[in-house]
Formats: sequence, C-alpha cells, structure tokens
Amino acid sequence: RHTSSLPPRSPELTTLTPKHIAQLRTLLPHPSSVISTLDDSAAPDDLIPFNRDWMGKYEGRSGVVVRPISTEEVSKVIKWCAENGVGVVPQGGNTGLVGGSTPIHDELILSLSSLTRIRSFDPLSGILIAESGLILEQIDTFLSKQSPSFIFPLDLGAKGSCQIGGNVATNAGGLRLLRYGSLRGSVLGLEVVLPDGKIWDGLSGLRKDNTGYDLKQLFIGSEGSIGIITAISILCPRRPTTHNVALFSLPSYEACLSVFAETKTHLGEILSAFEMFDRTSYEAVKKHGGARRVFEEGNEGEFYCLVETGGSNAEHDSEKLTRLFESLISSSSILDGVLAQDTTQSASLWQIRELCPESLSKAGKAYKYDLSVPVEKMYSLVEKMRERLRDVGMLRDDGSGKVKSVAGFGHMGDGNLHLNVVATEFSDEVQSAIEPFVYELVAQNNGSISAEHGLGSMKAPYISYSQSSTSIELMRRIKKMFDPKGIMNPYKFIT
Ligand code: FAD
Repeated sequence: RHTSSLPPRSPELTTLTPKHIAQLRTLLPHPSSVISTLDDSAAPDDLIPFNRDWMGKYEGRSGVVVRPISTEEVSKVIKWCAENGVGVVPQGGNTGLVGGSTPIHDELILSLSSLTRIRSFDPLSGILIAESGLILEQIDTFLSKQSPSFIFPLDLGAKGSCQIGGNVATNAGGLRLLRYGSLRGSVLGLEVVLPDGKIWDGLSGLRKDNTGYDLKQLFIGSEGSIGIITAISILCPRRPTTHNVALFSLPSYEACLSVFAETKTHLGEILSAFEMFDRTSYEAVKKHGGARRVFEEGNEGEFYCLVETGGSNAEHDSEKLTRLFESLISSSSILDGVLAQDTTQSASLWQIRELCPESLSKAGKAYKYDLSVPVEKMYSLVEKMRERLRDVGMLRDDGSGKVKSVAGFGHMGDGNLHLNVVATEFSDEVQSAIEPFVYELVAQNNGSISAEHGLGSMKAPYISYSQSSTSIELMRRIKKMFDPKGIMNPYKFIT
C-alpha cells in the first residue's frame, strides 16, 4: 500500500483463525462460497483480486472471502460477524475509485457476486426487482431484450464489471444522469441485511409513499457502512428507440460552455448526455486505449464534447442535431465535429469518452479526484492543479517530474469533473502535493469533494471540506445507531 496515512488496525476487531473459517464453512455449505488462505485451502494469489482495488492503489491483506448465494446466507454471515466482532467489507464489482471496496487490514470480504437472481420485472410499470450482484451491463441487456424495450437508468464506463448493488451503495451517477436523474429518484426500494444480521425488507414497488422516514435513502450511497444491500427495486424507463451521437472538437473551455448552452437550447428534451474531455485525456485514449484519430490533426482541439440524443423519432432527432451542428460551425464555436452515421460509429465515439479513466490509469499511477463545482469553474480546477504541481517542481515541461500529466474529463452536464493526476508512482510525497490542496480548491468554490465516487478510505478524512460539523455529527450518530460494534466497512466513510 502506498500510503502511511491509513488508520491503524482496531484492537476491537477479531483476528480470524482457521477455527473461524471452519465455522464459516458450516454456515455457507456451498463448496466455492468460502475462499481462505487461513486454512491453507487457497493460495495468497487467489485473494489478490479481492484485496487489491481497480486502480492498484489500495491493497488489504484479508485471508478470507465469502460468497453467499442468498440473502439468508448473507444474514447468517453478518449475524456471525456481529457475534464474533469480525470486521466486514462488502464487495460488489470492486470498481470503486476511493478505496472503499477492499479491506484496509484483514477484514473479512463479503462478495455479493453470487446474488444474481432477477426476481421480477413488470413491463407495464418498468419496475425491476433484482439481486445486488448482477452486473450492470447484463441487467441492461436483459432490459433491452424485453418487448417493449427498457433501459437501466444508469450507465458508466465500468458497466462490464460493476454490480447494481455496488451502484446503489455508491449512488453512482454516470453517463445518463442528465437524462434519468440520480438513483435516489429511480430506486423505489431495497432489501438490506443490517449489521446485526436482521433482514430489512424494504423492497417497495411504489412510486409514492409518504409514510414516515424514507429509510432506503439512508442506504443509497452508504458504501456498506450500515448494511448490505442484497436486492433492489428500481424504476426503469422505456429505452429510446433512436440514439444519435456527435463529437465536437473545441479550442477552449469557454467554447465548451457556450456549446453546452447552445446544445440545450437546440436539443431540449432529447438531450441525453453531454460529456467533456480534454486533449490530455484524448491523447491517453489514443495511446493506451487504442482509439483511432477522429479529426484531422489540424482540427484537433484542446477540448472535446460528446453529445447524445435519445428519442422516438429518428428523423426529428437527427434533424435537430444537424441544425445544432450547422449553427456551431457557422458561429465558429467548434473546430470540427462528427455526427455518427450508425450504431457502430456511435459506440466508437462513446468508447473514446468511456476509455478516459482506464487509459489515464495505464499512462502511469493515476490519482483520481471526482469533484463537483459550478460548471463554469469546472476546468479551472485542472489549470490550478497544473500550476500548483509546476510550482512544487513535480510537473516539468521536459517530463522529468514525478507527475507526468494532469487531465480533466467528466459529466459536464452535471458539473462533475474527473481530475486525474498521472504520476510515476503512488507515494506520500505526490499525494501530499495534491491533497489537501485539491479539497481546499473545491471548498473555495462551494463544491463537493466527491460528486459520485463516494468517500471510501480515500476521502473519509476530508469530509469536512464538504459537510458541516453538524452534518458530520448526525452521520456519526446514524452510523453508531445501525452499527454499534463498528464492524461494517471499518476505517472508512464516516469515522
Ligand atoms: P465496489 O467497488 O465493489 O464497492 C463500492 C463501495 O460500495 C464499497 O464501499 C463497498 O463496500 C460498497 N458495496 C458494494 N456492494 C455493496 C452492497 N451490495 N451492499 C452494500 N455495500 C456495497 N462511478 C460513477 O459514479 N460514475 C461513473 O461514471 C463512473 N465511471 C467509472 C468508470 C470506470 C472505468 C471505473 C473503473 C469506475 C467508475 N466509477 C464511476 C466508479 C465505480 O464504478 C462505481 O462507484 C460503481 O458504482 C461501483 O460498483 P461496484 O459494484 O464495483 O462496487
């Protein structure tokens, strides 16, 4: 692990022994439900994919992974953990970017990957009830094959690995938020195993229910700190029958802002995504993601905006997009643009944007910051970070510094910037050049230090940059009430 700043192991939590593993095996009789190095039934390498996070930045040293196959089994394990004082890390697809899904020390990893049943789908209302271990892309494919066709109201670059339970646990935002809103609006109910093992059946299928506190909201975005989400009930919209995608090349961030305003005016209700990435991100995607050049070299700008429409009338939608394109060209807001001619081309344009996080990670050791600020100030954060890293001698024009590049991309339609600092190594020295500077910048702009990735272990110590002391105190009380023994995802989120 690169950093010395993670909290020390709590003496309150039990150290697991082979005897404990034997007890777990009696609770979960399926042969592949318990993987452990503690009774020598697994090799240390078998546990690396569970102990190490997607970025390769965080790595725990848990000796056991359990994979229950039903909510009842999750309940049995959690009850056992509570009785034995065992710390638990719930793990979905392990694509989280804030060090929340892997252990800090030797906590038990509870993987939801075997909870994959679709319990029901109602094609009249679009209400889906499904278990939390389902992979986002698989459930979206299932919905697309219904007649009529539906869509999962969330999409993100990690869709091939992340799980819908993990998505709800992080309140993921992603690429469709502009159109379908936050999961806080589309999730109708949840089934949760509470930290004492009790099962809370809150799987409502109601769109309206004003009887008391809306408890599900506490679990949405709670990052495994107060319970394990085992199933979700979610309202899925009809899948648009036509999609159009355009990619524009722009000279400046100011141009992105005016194109964003003009796009909203022209496209109105059919606008479904407005994404931005800068030249540094695009170069990384070309070099490490294998994307082909889209524009002629002379027309490659400092910024790129991807616009998507979703509607029900192909002619009407493409006419609107063409008119936008013509207007942007005639006002010289853009250097160049392409309108996808078919679904393959749409997918390849989307791929450029979706490959930004992964390609920057391949370019070096990427520190990732997911920030929310007013849209007009979004890119100034990237510029200020570059300035800062130049001032401290880490970013150098000759490429000899510890920082190779600073890139920005994100969900411009939501005022959400992904700031990536690509370094030669994950080290305390690089980290302390970036943090808390980056959080101070966000606070000065009345923003959020985590727009959608959550707090995990990375941002838990910095929550006060975005939340008042009264809010933090209330959150601590909620945590204590649900999890008095502190076994759920310890050392993270709210500490
Ligand atoms: P994990 O990473 O396994 O877990 C995340 C957190 O949730 C952990 O704290 C874990 O303990 C907890 N958790 C997981 N499952 C459960 C459960 N069933 N019950 C209780 N707690 C649980 N995020 C966005 O918001 N928008 C994006 O656009 C986006 N793009 C991404 C692109 C890439 C290439 C990558 C790698 C990541 C991206 N992410 C994005 C981050 C990540 O994919 C999301 O946070 C995702 O929702 C995590 O889902 P997961 O199943 O992988 O959860």
